[in-house]
Amino acid sequence: MATKAYAAFNAVDPLGAHTIERRTLNAKDIFIKIEYCGVCHSDLHTAKSDWGPTNYPSVPGHEIVGRVEAVGSEVSKFKVGDIVGVGCMVESCQHCHSCDEGLEQYCENGFTGTYNSKNSKHGGITYGGYSENIVVEEGFVLNVPTNLPLENVAPLLCAGITTWSPLRHWNVKKGDKVGVVGLGGLGHMGVKFAKAMGAHVVMITTSASKGEDAMKLGADEVLISKDSEQMKQHAYSFDFLLNTIPVTHDVNPYLLLLKLDKTMCMVGAIEPFPIHGGVLINKRRNIAGSLIGGIKETQEMLDFCGEHGIVSEVEVINMHEINEAYVRMQQSDVKYRFVIDMKTL
Ligand code: NAP
Ligand code: ZN
Repeated sequence: MATKAYAAFNAVDPLGAHTIERRTLNAKDIFIKIEYCGVCHSDLHTAKSDWGPTNYPSVPGHEIVGRVEAVGSEVSKFKVGDIVGVGCMVESCQHCHSCDEGLEQYCENGFTGTYNSKNSKHGGITYGGYSENIVVEEGFVLNVPTNLPLENVAPLLCAGITTWSPLRHWNVKKGDKVGVVGLGGLGHMGVKFAKAMGAHVVMITTSASKGEDAMKLGADEVLISKDSEQMKQHAYSFDFLLNTIPVTHDVNPYLLLLKLDKTMCMVGAIEPFPIHGGVLINKRRNIAGSLIGGIKETQEMLDFCGEHGIVSEVEVINMHEINEAYVRMQQSDVKYRFVIDMKTL
């Protein structure tokens, strides 16, 4: 069916109105009317072909919340009227080791991204949440806690799970000193989750002006990464670092903050970055990466947010304001996630 959307047509021009085709419902499909869609830095990377050539026209958006409007004949988990979410994945092979373990994001045959992915099952390229509606198989649809404001829930579907998953994987616990690097969409959720897990949270930022906000979000301390004196004072003191910087950068000053045997997990930069071997070797330090999170884990995160009243801090925008939002995001000027009100499409 013809569906209104907003798309990037090439790497340089602004996004604009577009019409896409959504498939008619198969037995396991859910038809979701999208109410809000968060704006992830990955949307911007994709729109600009930062990560290699994008399939244009490209409809970004993988922080989707909305209402179920129709279900296929074999759908059992959801019914019309349910409030649901869709994150970064819409399909995976469902029979490899990773899928069996609920780690669909590491599917050995490659998961299908919510946008700009080749859709091996249904053909064509996937289109994301900057659109009126979306059709997704029920296995990749999440239950949204009903006690939380929907616009603030949307960013949990990517920024939330991408920070939750590594904090859980590296077993962040009460009393750990945890640094979150970069106060943007991912970073602000990292601060909230690390705090909720009982950690002593340090916001590590390039923007001194964000310090006060970081404390309000739950940080116990703020460390300005450009201040080498401050960085020295915190050397060899962290149990875990979550690095959300979206571009390549010098990781060595951050690694020096880690204690013996501890890990910095990268979730942002995908480009090469130089590492001084000595920085790792001398303190048996680790550098690692993490990709979003599995469906089961995403549901656990959403349920945890419902129980603890955790949501994202958002600036709700109209669809036509997306290009301005991208410019501000590139300038690290977002508090702390843009969310599109899809009524304005
Ligand atoms: P964002 O809202 O733009 O926040 C990024 C923050 O990083 C900025 O607010 C800024 O914080 C800091 N920063 C930006 N440029 C910097 C630079 N050159 N040097 C040092 N710090 C810099 O972005 P986001 O949506 O949180 O996404 C962050 C990255 O994660 C993106 O690359 C995105 O594509 C990626 N991502 C990865 C996954 C995954 O599964 N691994 C999932 C989603 C997104 P301060 O002002 O505090 O310094
Ligand atoms: Zn994202």
